[in-house]
Amino acid sequence: MSRKQHFQRNGGGVFRCEVCDRSTRRVDQGHDSRLCPQCWDLAGLDNTVNDNGPTEPSLGDWTTYRDALLADAVAKGGNAEQIKKEFTYLWGGGA
Ligand SMILES: [Zn+2]
Repeated sequence: MSRKQHFQRNGGGVFRCEVCDRSTRRVDQGHDSRLCPQCWDLAGLDNTVNDNGPTEPSLGDWTTYRDALLADAVAKGGNAEQIKKEFTYLWGGGA
């Protein structure tokens, strides 16, 4: 007899985002993520900018996306300064 240990999937999964410090719950972030959905997306964007450089044309208008995610996180109680400090490629100056 085997029991599945994935009980966190079904509700009750409220936690504090590691980056912006707001209370959130798991939506579609990675399995072990401790980030809210906005910081999760920002982390992905941060990686992309890191890999390709901020002026890579295929990135398109990524600063608009970045600012929208930030505004969304802040509207939900996130700390903007902590977000900007965390994602250094997104707010590293120059953009
Ligand atoms: Zn967050």
